[in-house]
Amino acid sequence: MEVVKAVVFKHDADVKPLLEAFNQMVNECMEYALRYGVNSPMKLEKALYDEFKQKYGLATHYCISACRVACSALKSWRRLVKKGRADKNKPPVFKTLAMRLQKGLMRFKEDKIVVTVKPRQWVEIPLIIGSYQAQFVEAWRKGELKLGEITLLEDKAIATFKKEVQEVAPKGYASIDVNLMSLDVLKTNGESLAYKKTDLKKLYGIRVHYFKKRRKIQRLSKYKPKTSKRLMEKYSKREKRRIDDILHKITANIVRELVKEGISPVFEKLKGLNYNATRNHHAKRKNRKVSSLPYWKIQRFIEYKMAWHGYKTHYVNAKNTSKTCPRCGSLSQAKGQVYECKHCGYEADRHFIACVNILNMWGTGFSPKALNELIEREELGGNESNRLLHIPT
Ligand SMILES: [Zn+2]
Repeated sequence: MEVVKAVVFKHDADVKPLLEAFNQMVNECMEYALRYGVNSPMKLEKALYDEFKQKYGLATHYCISACRVACSALKSWRRLVKKGRADKNKPPVFKTLAMRLQKGLMRFKEDKIVVTVKPRQWVEIPLIIGSYQAQFVEAWRKGELKLGEITLLEDKAIATFKKEVQEVAPKGYASIDVNLMSLDVLKTNGESLAYKKTDLKKLYGIRVHYFKKRRKIQRLSKYKPKTSKRLMEKYSKREKRRIDDILHKITANIVRELVKEGISPVFEKLKGLNYNATRNHHAKRKNRKVSSLPYWKIQRFIEYKMAWHGYKTHYVNAKNTSKTCPRCGSLSQAKGQVYECKHCGYEADRHFIACVNILNMWGTGFSPKALNELIEREELGGNESNRLLHIPT
C-alpha cells in the first residue's frame, strides 16, 4: 500500500505577494462562479484564463489551481448550506494565504524549492532543515521516498512524501480507548495481555484554559469586534498548536511501542466529533465545548503513523463497549470512572472494561487465563473476591 506523510519545513522567503495574488485569483474565481452559476473548474478556467493572464501575468498553473480551489470551496459551502450549517446569502471567502504547488510548478532541491512564477521566471525558497526534516530529504535523495504535492504558506512549506510499503501481518492487537482524561491501551500477542493508561489531564487542562479565554474574548466582541476576532483567531491557533504537539508526542510513543512488538491498533468507530462527550453525559453538561476534545485526531495520528510502518488500523462498532461486563456479559451503566456489574458485582475501571470489550469485539484471541493474570497483576478488579474473571471457554 502507498503511504503518505506530510513534513513541515519552515522558510523565511518573501512569498507573500505571490500568495496574495493567488488568494485574489481564487476569490475572483468564486465570485465569477457564483454570478454565472459555473460549477466546473474547466469552464471557469476557460472563462477567466485570458483576463487572469493579463491581470496577473502568472504561469498557467496558477489559473488552473485557483479555479480548482474555488470550485471545491464552493462545493463544500453548498453542502453546508444544504445541511443548514452555512448561510446561503454569505458565500465563502478564501482567507488563507496558502497554495498547493503541483509538480509542474516547482522543483524540490533538497535545501530549497524553486517555484515557477511566470514562464522562465522563478522564485527560490530556501528551506530550514532540522534533523527531523533531514531524514526525509535523505530518504528522498536515495529514492526511498517520492515527493508529492507541496503546500506553500507564508512561513512554511508542507511537503508530502510517499512510499510503497508492504503490509505487515501483525503478531497481535491492541485496543485503544480514548476518553476525556486518559488514553487506555490493552495489548495482546495472543498469549499475555498488557494494559497501560496514559494521562490526558494536561490536554484537558489546556482545553479548559483556552475555553475560559475564549469566553472572555467573546464578552469583548460587543464593543471591540475587530480586536475580539483577532484575539480569537490568535488563541485558537495557539491552542491547536499546543494540543497537536502533545497529541503527536503521545501517539508517537504508542506507535513506537506497537511497531516494536508488531501489534496492530483497534479503535471504536467514532460517531461524529463529540462522540465521547455524548457517551459521558456528565462531562457534556459540565463542560460543554471543553469536552469536545479532538479524539478523532488521536485515531488519525495513530492510523497514519502505523500505516507508515505497514500496519493497518482496525475499527469496531462502539455499541456497549463501556457497558458490557467482561465476566458475565450483562449490561450495566458505569458510574463515573468505575464500572460495576449489577448482575455479578464485578468492579473495574470503566476504560479498562472498554478496552477488554473492544479486543473481544475485534475477535482477537486471548485466553481468560491471560485476562485473569493481568487483572491480578495490575489489580484491575474492584476487590479480591471478584477480581478474577470466569469467562466460559
Ligand atoms: Zn457481570
